[in-house]
Amino acid sequence: MNQRTGKISIVVPAHNEEENLPVLVSRLESVLAPYREFEILIIDDGSTDDTLYVLQQLSSLYDSVRYLSFSRNFGHQAALRAGFDHATGSCVICLDADLQHPPELIPTMIAQWEEGYDVVCAIRKADPTLPLMKRKTSSWFYRFIRAVSDVNLEEGAADFRLLDRKVVDSLKQYKETDLFLRGMISWMGFRQSRVEYQPAQRYAGKSKYSFRKMFNLATMGITSFTTKPLYLSVVLGFGMFLFALLFGAEVLYEKYFTANTVSGWTSIVLLIVLIGGIQFIMMGIIGIYLGKAFQEVKHRPTYLVHESNLAEKVVSVETVAWNR
Ligand code: UDP
Ligand code: MG
Repeated sequence: MNQRTGKISIVVPAHNEEENLPVLVSRLESVLAPYREFEILIIDDGSTDDTLYVLQQLSSLYDSVRYLSFSRNFGHQAALRAGFDHATGSCVICLDADLQHPPELIPTMIAQWEEGYDVVCAIRKADPTLPLMKRKTSSWFYRFIRAVSDVNLEEGAADFRLLDRKVVDSLKQYKETDLFLRGMISWMGFRQSRVEYQPAQRYAGKSKYSFRKMFNLATMGITSFTTKPLYLSVVLGFGMFLFALLFGAEVLYEKYFTANTVSGWTSIVLLIVLIGGIQFIMMGIIGIYLGKAFQEVKHRPTYLVHESNLAEKVVSVETVAWNR
């Protein structure tokens, strides 16, 4: 197989990561120093601290640093998409800004890419220091999504991975606004490989994934990859029908064959509650999908950029070429 070479793009989504970015960039710089050409593209996802200022400073310090700043918080997945849209390398590696994804793993990932793999996923080994709640919810989520959809998502496969240029280009063709990249990439195929790593502690600051954001990501992951929950109503309907048949037979039996004909208030209330509950669940599920269809039909942009240094850096590259 042909040896691959070329520019390496690093994509980093950052939401309020002012303290982490300088450390991350210097570690990335030393890891990437042996490679001929690379860029570090950082997406400021509507930070309210000094992330943007730090990025401006870093960009004047390091030639390789390029940044984009969103007009507000659009979310991790949107930031990754912006990174894929603007990265110019022959391969793109995305990792978190908080140094939980060790940059030192990058050479191993690049080596796999050079061998011919198109997608190299870094799989997180179980981290005993993580709160039990987070470990459990994440493991349930992966199990659930494997059960209800056709994507084979591996547990611990977060957004630390390398993608070849052709995968990034294919990904850019997907216009859906609701993004669940890890599912999408696993669904796309290509030659995939994996490397394992031990996650580090968050270097500074708190996790930016609140329970609400995790819940949203999980519902999005499920509803963008499967319509199976919609079939739940059919299954439940059949269940209810069977139950009604049995219950009806029992009622008739009581009416005609026993003296005990005082009809129960309890059974009526039970039935109303039961059917009402099921109807609400089903309406909720249909509502979620309908809402998604509504979002997608609008074709709104996934993110809006308010400031960036991409143009400057492109100009400077061109000037270099011109002066040669
Ligand atoms: N992030 C982002 N936008 C958000 C939330 C998070 O760009 O709305 C970034 C964050 O800066 C970090 C990465 O996504 O680089 C992962 O977030 P975090 O480390 O908070 O998640 P956790 O590791 O706790 O799951
Ligand atoms: Mg983190």
